Amino acid sequence: MHEYSIAKGIVKVVMSTIAGREEKVKKIWIKSGIAKAIMPDALFFSFDVLKKQHNQLADTELCLDIVPISGHCNECGQDFEISKIIAICPNCGSSDVEWTGGNELFIEKIEII
Ligand SMILES: [Zn+2]
Repeated sequence: MHEYSIAKGIVKVVMSTIAGREEKVKKIWIKSGIAKAIMPDALFFSFDVLKKQHNQLADTELCLDIVPISGHCNECGQDFEISKIIAICPNCGSSDVEWTGGNELFIEKIEII
């Protein structure tokens, strides 16, 4: 389950970010590209299991924001959003398309009490 390793990564980054602090983490905002194909339920479940191992994360809420895939056409220079896995430029119909977004996963914000 790749959501478990993603949740593990989130916990690791947050714990190192708050290292040396006493405060508890209230909320973590995650931004994930749609191409990561995360199942939110699986991610939340994994996070709930993992957060019990850390005192400062005991009451932490995880917020997930899914970002659409964006593409850039090398033929005509159009930037657009992709809803299907096969990327075709809506402007000129070219399939010479560069993936410019949607594959990212990062922690946007951490709120501590
Ligand atoms: Zn184009």
